[in-house]
Amino acid sequence: MVRHRNLRRYLVGFDTSTLPQIFTDCLVIGGGVAGLRVALEVAEAGPDVRVTLATKTELLESNSYYAQGGIAAVTDPVEDSPEKHRADTLATACGLADEAIVEMVVGEGPDRIRDLIDWGTPFDRDGDALSLTREGGHSARRILHASGDSTGREISQTMAAQARVQSRIVLRERTYTIDLLTGDTGEVLGALLWTAATGLTVCWARFTVLASGGAGRLYRESTNPETATGDGMAIAYRAGAELEDLEFVQFHPTTLYIAGASRALISETVRGEGGRLLDRNGTRFMPEYHADAELAPRDVVSRAIVRQMAKTDSTNVYLDLRHLKAEHLYARFPFIRTICRDFDIDIARDLIPVRPAAHYTIGGVRVDGDGRTSLPRLYACGEVSCTRLHGANRLGSNSLLEGLVFGYRAGRRIVEQLAVGNGTSRPPRLQFTVAHSDRTVLDVDDVQNSLRAIMWRNVGIERDARHLAETEEIIEFWQSYVLDKEFADPRGWQLQNMLTLARLVARSANQRQESRGTHFRTDFPERDDAHWQHHIVRSVASASA
Ligand SMILES: Cc1cc2nc3c(=O)[nH]c(=O)nc-3n(C[C@H](O)[C@H](O)[C@H](O)COP(=O)(O)OP(=O)(O)OC[C@H]3O[C@@H](n4cnc5c(N)ncnc54)[C@H](O)[C@@H]3O)c2cc1C
Repeated sequence: MVRHRNLRRYLVGFDTSTLPQIFTDCLVIGGGVAGLRVALEVAEAGPDVRVTLATKTELLESNSYYAQGGIAAVTDPVEDSPEKHRADTLATACGLADEAIVEMVVGEGPDRIRDLIDWGTPFDRDGDALSLTREGGHSARRILHASGDSTGREISQTMAAQARVQSRIVLRERTYTIDLLTGDTGEVLGALLWTAATGLTVCWARFTVLASGGAGRLYRESTNPETATGDGMAIAYRAGAELEDLEFVQFHPTTLYIAGASRALISETVRGEGGRLLDRNGTRFMPEYHADAELAPRDVVSRAIVRQMAKTDSTNVYLDLRHLKAEHLYARFPFIRTICRDFDIDIARDLIPVRPAAHYTIGGVRVDGDGRTSLPRLYACGEVSCTRLHGANRLGSNSLLEGLVFGYRAGRRIVEQLAVGNGTSRPPRLQFTVAHSDRTVLDVDDVQNSLRAIMWRNVGIERDARHLAETEEIIEFWQSYVLDKEFADPRGWQLQNMLTLARLVARSANQRQESRGTHFRTDFPERDDAHWQHHIVRSVASASA
């Protein structure tokens, strides 16, 4: 357990009796695939049900929207099978996945794809059949994609359109969730919301679902959009929920590396279609590191790139597609082609400079197979949660699937609970005051940039005890000047959340004295099943001030 000296129960002071109030059956925090899937399911509960869905910025600004490569599911019963998908997921997870969860997600995947098709998702096709591709770690072609490499955009737009016409769902965009509201016994009663136009609002909810996505922006090099600051995990932590496996952060091997530009993902499917990795001398290096070469698991490829960059004293390596047919590349990767073209790179004729970046948060709020957290009336699904599907490493294209399957299951469970009248307690009056602090005010952007830089250097692809311990110390120092303040807008709250979560990630990484999946310790390079088979679970109900 990590004790934060300055961590208080709520980030801001409030008195619910003086604030505007909203009442809803189900509050969904987040509008990516997971949040939209829950909302659409709960909306089926009956004509009187009310679902409120809040998003930090616009509805379509999420990791889901930017997903490129596709979504994994067994839709070809001849060449593929649920057993193969299950075995691939387990092999990538390095011994930490929950086999029953893997079986459930793989088994229910095709039904969730069917929902998407019924709602109108335009998956790419070869004639009448769904077009399937392969990615690293998958033993069969089972990745569905849409508009080539814009799968997330197509799925998000389709689901958002469904939500917009569903009158039982009230969409509240640009509505920041500051904290969950909890009652005397720790049950979640809703959340404290904020908009620039109206300030604080209390949302009382019979059930609350965290679907607020991951924390890729904790790192300087990241494929994630600015929204992915891990708010939901920090919010859940302050409320006393259990978090799990935070040390497992997946780094994507190939993001476009142009100094000064933001990091755009170059999807794994590019390597799946035959792309090769070359170092600055033009040498193809992946066969030296793994038998599957460019199609080795992501952690292996990321580490190999970092080592090859060090060996050749270079800031990046290159993706080489020049041996593949130009027409095929342009048709298959229109989005990547456009991004590269902006920098005068023709993906069929030029080498593409790439390097790894933080991509996916494997750990998160601990949930069961129906998305239930350790707190009554609180559910979580999607990247904010830890379902134990991915174990210590995520198989590519399994996360959109996870969000859909758990979103559906949490939604079904909430529908059942609503039907039997659960979650209808009368809201109490809640009050909280933040003591004034005279300590120096630090610049929010400066601290955020420094935090992201140190996370990248010390809690990144390769880690060791000394640097992890130093990182914790430094973050604790920043915390003492940032967590004592009361901020009035999301920039400050996000920084408070990032500092809270980053310290937990550094501490978790230091505690796990072995290497497994995405977590690589140079001082403990071997996997240690005898001591580290089990997950580390943290609960901080004691964080209450
Ligand atoms: C570039 C990129 C490519 C990817 N490609 C693939 C792929 O091909 N296949 C695959 O399976 N996975 C892929 N992934 C991963 C996958 O996209 C995500 O894991 C998944 O979409 C997460 O969905 P989600 O619904 O949990 O969260 P998100 O889609 O990230 O949605 C989070 C939502 O929470 C809201 N939110 C956050 N904090 C707050 C707050 N404080 N208050 C209110 N709202 C809040 C946000 O506004 C947003 O609406 C990719 C990720 C990236 C970044």
